[in-house]
Amino acid sequence: MADSLVILNANIITLNLKQAKAQAVVAHKGRITAVGSNSQIRKHIAKSAKIIDAKNKTVMPGFVDCHVHMTEFGFFFQSPNLKNIRSIKQMQRKLREHASKHRGSGWILGGRWDHEKFVEERYPTRGDLDVAVPDRPVFLVRVCGHMGVANTQALRQAGITRETVVDGGKIDMSEATGEPSGILKENAMGLIWEAVPKPSLEALKEACLRACTKAVEAGLTGVHWLAESADEIQAITELDSEGNLPLRVHLGVPFELLDSLAKLGPAAVPLESKVRMGFVKLFADGSLGSRTAALKEPYSDEPNSCGLLLHPKEKLCQLVTEAHKAGLQVAVHAIGDLAVENVQDAYEEALKQFPRKDHRHRIEHCSILNPRLIKRMKALGLIASVQPHFVVSDFWLVDRIGARRARWAFPLRTLVKQGVAVISGSDCPVESINPLLGIWAAVAERGSHESLTVKEALKTYTSNAAYATFNENEKGTIEVGKLADFTILSEDLLNIEPNMIKKVKVEMTVVDGKLVHSRLRTKVT
Ligand SMILES: [Zn+2]
Repeated sequence: MADSLVILNANIITLNLKQAKAQAVVAHKGRITAVGSNSQIRKHIAKSAKIIDAKNKTVMPGFVDCHVHMTEFGFFFQSPNLKNIRSIKQMQRKLREHASKHRGSGWILGGRWDHEKFVEERYPTRGDLDVAVPDRPVFLVRVCGHMGVANTQALRQAGITRETVVDGGKIDMSEATGEPSGILKENAMGLIWEAVPKPSLEALKEACLRACTKAVEAGLTGVHWLAESADEIQAITELDSEGNLPLRVHLGVPFELLDSLAKLGPAAVPLESKVRMGFVKLFADGSLGSRTAALKEPYSDEPNSCGLLLHPKEKLCQLVTEAHKAGLQVAVHAIGDLAVENVQDAYEEALKQFPRKDHRHRIEHCSILNPRLIKRMKALGLIASVQPHFVVSDFWLVDRIGARRARWAFPLRTLVKQGVAVISGSDCPVESINPLLGIWAAVAERGSHESLTVKEALKTYTSNAAYATFNENEKGTIEVGKLADFTILSEDLLNIEPNMIKKVKVEMTVVDGKLVHSRLRTKVT
C-alpha cells in the first residue's frame, strides 16, 4: 500500500488559526506533511502517492465521539430495536416477531424503549413481556440504559424475588401483587447481567467491528470507548493487533478493571497501535429518564423522590481519590445537580490531598448544572463531557424537573463562555452515532441562550476531544506534523443554514492517512 496520500481540490477547514483554509493536503506514513493550495501541493506529490480528487468537498479534522458504548452498539444490531415504538402493544408485537425470527431458548436482550413515547403512559411490566414471550428470558433496557424490564423467566433465572435487596439499585414492586413488577433500576440490572451467559470472544469481536464500521461511515476517526469488561478490552486489542481496527480508540475502563488497565499501560502498547488506555470510569448517579439522576430537590413529577446516588459521598470520594492517586485520568458519570456537586467535591478533595496540575479529569454528562456548579467546573479544571443531542431526546425535561432547573440543563454556551473545556459525544446507543446530529443539536436546538456557534461545536468534536486525551499536539486540527485523520463532508458546515447540518453527508473518512470509508465513487489514483 502507498505510504502517501494526497487530497486535492478540497475545501479544507483546518481549525488551525494560523492557516484557516487550504485546498490540498499531503499525508506520509500517517502524518500530515504539507497543507496548502493545489499548486503548492502538486510540487510535493510522490510518484507512488494515492491521490484523491475531493471535488470541492469539505475536509475537516477527524471527528471524535467522546462518549460511546461501542460494544453495546454492535450488539444492538442483533436485538429487537424498540427505539421508535409508541406503545406497549407495539413492544409486544416486535418482541414476538423477534422471537420467531431468532428461535431457541436463549436470552432476548436489547430494546432501548422510551416509555415517554408510549400511549399507555406507564412502564412496561413483566406481565406485558410474558404475554409476548413466556418461555425464554427477556430483558429490555430503556433508551438511557439505566433501567430495564424483565419477564418472569428472566427474573427467575436472575434469582430476583420480593426479598432481593441491592445497593445503589431498585427493584420496583407491583402494587397489585407485591411481587417484582419487572422494572429494575441501576445496580439491580447487574443481577440480570450476572445471569446472562457471557458472549464468546469471537462474538464480541464481531460486535466491536460492526460498531467500528458504523462509526467510520458516520465520519468518526476516533472514539472514547466506554468498555464494560476485560473480555471486551481483549476483543478490541486483538482487532487492533490483527490490523482490523479502522479508527482510533481511547478506552474508558470501569474502576473495577483497574488491574487490566495497568496491564495495558502505555509501555505495553505498540507504536502503530490505534488503541490507547484512557481514563477510569465511575458512576455517581443514574439518568433523568429513569428518575435515577440524583437531584438536590425532588423531581417535579415525582415529589417524593430525589433520585439515586450510586455511592454514598464518602465512598465516591474514596474511589476518586484512589484512582487519582494512581496517576490516572478519572471520568465520573453525573447527571443530577446533587451528583455533579458530589463529584466536584470528590475531585476537590482528591486534588487537595494529592495535588496534580494537568489532571484533565472529566464529568460525563453533567446535565443539570447551575451558575455555581459551572464556575466550579472551571475552577477545578474539569472537562465537561456532554451529549448535545440529549436536549432533543429529553423533550419531557420541563415536566420532570421544572422550568427553573431546566434552564440550567445542558448549558453549553455558558460552559464555553466560562472557559470550561467542553467535549461532545453521542452516548450511543442512547443516541445515534452520527456526530452531525450532535453538532446540529448544539448549534440549532437550544434557542440562542445556550446554543454554540458552529465553530465552537466543531471544536468539541475535534481539538477539545484531543485535549481530553492529552493529544492536542497530535490531533484536532489540520496542520503539518499532526496525524492524518480527516472527515470529508458534502457541505461546508460553516456556510450552511444551521438546520441543514443534520442533512449533511459524510463523503469519506480518512484515518492514519488511509481511506477507511467512502460514499463517493471517487477516483483514487
Ligand atoms: Zn454512557
